[in-house]
Amino acid sequence: MTHVVAQPCDNCKYTDCVVVCPVECFYEGETMLYIHPDECIDCEACVPECPVEAIFHEDNLPAEWASYKALNAEMAPKLPQITEKKEPLAGH
Ligand code: SF4
Ligand code: SF4
Repeated sequence: MTHVVAQPCDNCKYTDCVVVCPVECFYEGETMLYIHPDECIDCEACVPECPVEAIFHEDNLPAEWASYKALNAEMAPKLPQITEKKEPLAGH
């Protein structure tokens, strides 16, 4: 099981979420973050930290964002790990 970052994260990157993750399983893409499904321990710590409610347990992922489960699994292993909060993108 894993948690999944979905569409609301796109263009946000406030990154409040990464600070609380005990296993540091967030990875930074160009416009959003992804969770590595083999590393996430389903602690749920990140869920309330996200101001736009972009993070879901894979079982609770809204149908419209179902494709994000595979997208997180595909993208996270290819990207750099992010463990510290960054400034939001300009304009957000
Ligand atoms: S806090 Fe939410 S929107 Fe911001 S980077 Fe994390 S998952 Fe994405
Ligand atoms: S559920 Fe826990 S382990 Fe998984 S990404 Fe969120 S904070 Fe990290």
